[in-house]
Amino acid sequence: MSSPAAKEAGLEYTPVDQIPKIVADLRANFLTGKTRSIEYRKNQLKQLAFMLKDNSDAFVESIRKDLGRSKFESVFAEIMGCTNECIEAINNLDKWAKPKKPWAGVAWAMHGATVRKEPKGTVLVIGAWNYPLTVQLGPIIGAIAAGNTVILKPSEVAAHTARLIAELYPKYLDPETNRCVNGAIPETTALLDQRFEHIFYTGNGTVGRIVAEKAAKWLCPTTLELGGKSPVYVDESADLSIAAHRILWGKALNCGQTCIAPDYILVPRKIQDPLIAELKKVHDKFYPESQGGIKGSASYGRIINTGHWKRLNGMLAETKGEVVLGGEGDEASKMLAPTVVKNVSGQDAIMQGEIFGPILPIVPVDDIKAAVDFINARDQPLALYLFAGDRKVKEYFFDHTRSGAAVQGDTLLHFAIDSLPFGGTGPSGYGNYHGKCGFDAFSHDRASLDAPSTGFLGKIIEMAMAPRYPPYSDSNLKQ
Ligand code: NAD
Repeated sequence: MSSPAAKEAGLEYTPVDQIPKIVADLRANFLTGKTRSIEYRKNQLKQLAFMLKDNSDAFVESIRKDLGRSKFESVFAEIMGCTNECIEAINNLDKWAKPKKPWAGVAWAMHGATVRKEPKGTVLVIGAWNYPLTVQLGPIIGAIAAGNTVILKPSEVAAHTARLIAELYPKYLDPETNRCVNGAIPETTALLDQRFEHIFYTGNGTVGRIVAEKAAKWLCPTTLELGGKSPVYVDESADLSIAAHRILWGKALNCGQTCIAPDYILVPRKIQDPLIAELKKVHDKFYPESQGGIKGSASYGRIINTGHWKRLNGMLAETKGEVVLGGEGDEASKMLAPTVVKNVSGQDAIMQGEIFGPILPIVPVDDIKAAVDFINARDQPLALYLFAGDRKVKEYFFDHTRSGAAVQGDTLLHFAIDSLPFGGTGPSGYGNYHGKCGFDAFSHDRASLDAPSTGFLGKIIEMAMAPRYPPYSDSNLKQ
């Protein structure tokens, strides 16, 4: 049964009883060998890039309906990134897919030791709503490049974009090898009851655990791209103006509904107020009163739905910290201003779970050691940010913490660099993707030998290897 959001968007869920046949068809089609051809994979990747390019305006509009987002953010943070990643995969696929011949040692030099990059088979990609192209089509790129048949299950929460993807998919991609299945929990559960060779899930950790349990039945490998609280430490040696620009940008992009958004700031007590002063200046520059302030800003998005809007306002109502910037919202339009809260403690309600919205608590600490202890007392985050000029501070911070990614001097940008692996550690997930890492995630490294076994060379190697046969002689155990 469709949700009200799905009904409003005209998103039709895939009938649950059709799901086993869709998966069975893709499994059978994988075995035909169609996706093994590198040219075929490149063609599908080109088609995916054309789907994004030809329909760029329609995607901007669907994301505007889902998230109230500006054209700039949707093009910059989704369409450009996905298109470039398709092109990168097309340009590098020959190299990535080429069998590798590792040095096997003198004894095995003639045995043709090779690592073949092989497709895993039929794979499932389950997406989340917050970046409905990037976290849904992004993983598909690696899955297609690696030569799999692929099912995408977009998030029903970003229903307008899910509808558009479902409509465009069969027009651009080969339905024999790429299918889109739509729906919510019953449809995703029906998918998870089927056998896949890899499941790539993006979303919250509670559902991540359900996915991992279901996958275990088939011993199916999974990539879990989850979330959590990504901290920022601003050191005394930082340029506070630059730090404020980059932190507020990272928090306000997509209204803070970004898995790697800075969740909270740790700062030495004595620079808390100077940092807040800079954040206020930056806020007024980003959303000038002359253009209607935050409420009238065409650059600022909206919260995905009323449920999440209420959740975020509930957090604000419960915090014992002091709201020093923002705080205002409007339920009807799901607007919630970028909101800075000072003097927040680790026990505060706002510090218990991922915020996933535009609220930015500041936790004052004594020094970098206290900041590192604070971070290490909590789950390993997906991203960890530092603003510092002091080399020793940078080294100490990176050497004494754990996280999916560690970034000094900026926020979010590591996501855009395809040569870096993107993924979490511990409760922020496991597995990586982007660029070649995405290709690797969906590939099996198949060890292979082509040992000489016929003709003259076969006989020579047979003689050389004969001591392995019984009856054994310990005198052959030469190290
Ligand atoms: P969501 O509600 O869209 O759910 C994700 C997917 O899980 C959807 O396709 C949904 O249909 C499916 N689903 C929901 N409940 C299910 C169930 N009980 N059984 C099976 N499937 C189910 O997205 P969300 O979870 O609200 O996403 C937000 C979270 O995702 C945040 O924690 C965020 O940090 C994280 N996230 C992580 C990344 C990353 O790359 N690491 C990217 C984006 C979002």
